[in-house]
Amino acid sequence: MAATYDAIVIGGGHNGLVAAAYLARAGAKTVVLESRFKTGGAATTEAPWPDAPEFRVTRLSYVMSLMPPTIINDLKLASHGYKIYPMGPYYQAFPEGGSIKLYADDAQRNYESVARWSKKDADAMPRWDAWLAGLADVLGPMLLTVPPNIGSRKPHDLKETLKLAWRNRGLDVRTIADVTRLMTMSIADLLDDWFESSQVKGALAVNGVIGTWAGPYEPGTAYVMAHHSIGDVGDGHLGNWGFQEGGMGAVSDAIEAAARGFGVEVRVNSPVARVLTQDGRAVGVALENGDELLASTIVTTLHPRTAFLDQVGEENLPADFTRDIRIWKTRSGVVKINLALSELPNFTADPGSDLQDHHSGSVEMAPSMEFIERAFQDAREGRPALRPFSDGVIPTAFDQTLCPEGTHIMSLFTQWVPSDWSLEPHTSELEAYADRMIELYDEVAPNFKASILHRDIVGPYQMEQEYGLIGGNIFHGELSLEQLFHMRPAPGYADYRTPIAGLYNGSSAAHAGGGVCGIPGWQAARAAMADRRAVISGRALVAARIRKAARQA
Ligand SMILES: Cc1cc2nc3c(=O)[nH]c(=O)nc-3n(C[C@H](O)[C@H](O)[C@H](O)COP(=O)(O)OP(=O)(O)OC[C@H]3O[C@@H](n4cnc5c(N)ncnc54)[C@H](O)[C@@H]3O)c2cc1C
Repeated sequence: MAATYDAIVIGGGHNGLVAAAYLARAGAKTVVLESRFKTGGAATTEAPWPDAPEFRVTRLSYVMSLMPPTIINDLKLASHGYKIYPMGPYYQAFPEGGSIKLYADDAQRNYESVARWSKKDADAMPRWDAWLAGLADVLGPMLLTVPPNIGSRKPHDLKETLKLAWRNRGLDVRTIADVTRLMTMSIADLLDDWFESSQVKGALAVNGVIGTWAGPYEPGTAYVMAHHSIGDVGDGHLGNWGFQEGGMGAVSDAIEAAARGFGVEVRVNSPVARVLTQDGRAVGVALENGDELLASTIVTTLHPRTAFLDQVGEENLPADFTRDIRIWKTRSGVVKINLALSELPNFTADPGSDLQDHHSGSVEMAPSMEFIERAFQDAREGRPALRPFSDGVIPTAFDQTLCPEGTHIMSLFTQWVPSDWSLEPHTSELEAYADRMIELYDEVAPNFKASILHRDIVGPYQMEQEYGLIGGNIFHGELSLEQLFHMRPAPGYADYRTPIAGLYNGSSAAHAGGGVCGIPGWQAARAAMADRRAVISGRALVAARIRKAARQA
């Protein structure tokens, strides 16, 4: 006999766990099916060195920002171990000497640091911050908005489109122009309009290309920067970027503990092979081992190619939807390098390997816009970047739980290798790429190379094979303009529903994803619960009508 549930969640990444927690909280008997030996997906803490299990790394994602207070509070995540240390400054030491530090919350220190490179840029910085904050006020709440089905003439869709227009009726000509600029410009062009020094522009460009298969001169990268800079999604101020104690896996663990508290069953080592459908409706899933589980509500949190093309099957889907998913862009050329260090980097520009301010935020290797662009051009031309850029962090500046006292963990989020490296392991080339990355840090912090005790390199192939991140894209699909809002993951299906009744999409490929924000999982659960309520009240209405008819007969 197939086990029967009210709801099945496919994938035990953080979004799957959020969806399951909300479904169970609403009274649904819920199971999460995860293919790996553990939950967390791309929000995972692991010990990658068998001979040194005392070192744990936040293996893929590495910093928190966009999780809305509603989810944190509803699921009481703080009581389950959710604890964020706000990050220190953005830091770049330059090969030619000197450094820059950018503080999110200290205008005076920011001014002093930037003025060393350009007085004009230091003067512009508060205006830039205010400009961005104004735009974040507009874009932030959009992240919590269910995208309307723009273009549909159905009364419900028209109502939702009008509601969105009405909510934004306060926007003036200037704000709309600014949003248009942000959505269409390259981060390079945008920064050229504001700043003059290559040091400042390099520092601010990084967020425009994180996880993106596009260099800083590509249109659309200005929006990517904004996505990473939004501080408020409309239900309370979000923290500055911060480190979760215990690494990103502890975020997933906190959500899982909350979900279990609501009665969710979590099954690891349970890869799903197929979504079972009947007459256009989801009825259950089949596992790779042949077991079947039944439920009338299913939330999938897998990459859309896996979820729809492999597991639902093209034969069960409308042709235009299938095409949209087939052409879904999912490249990024990211390589994550995790290091165990015997001591902190000792930068020539800011000497000392004792813990200092500049070790506690982003420790970057992106000295200029041209440097970042060159790295992208190498990869676009089919070679791994000769001089890759890196968004580095040292979470152990705060978090003592990840490694033995006196040692440190450093996480390097680097780009780019060719996008088709998701098809082959490229093991020795990745080793050489990591060597070059480490050399670049060693140029500015000469103790760096010698301080490395262990290293772990996760390239696009491993991201796809082990974590299900197709194409190695870190967000289940690029954050390019044609894949945002009502287009994510396909026009007509951005409301977390799918062409299959009873099947919902809560993955990072839904609106507000990617990132460890939980919003797609939360929204998919809300859509499923609303539909369940509608079915129940529809049934109650029919039953009441039958009773009334019987009484009258
Ligand atoms: C290198 C890297 C760095 C990143 N850095 C950051 C960062 O610093 N901050 C940030 O906010 N975001 C970051 N991200 C993005 C963020 O981690 C992801 O967007 C997010 O974690 C995805 O969550 P998810 O639950 O939607 O999907 P996933 O985490 O991908 O979860 C999907 C789950 O489904 C499982 N699965 C796959 N196939 C099957 C199957 N057949 N049956 C059952 N289960 C299956 C997978 O094992 C996985 O556990 C990063 C991502 C990467 C890869």
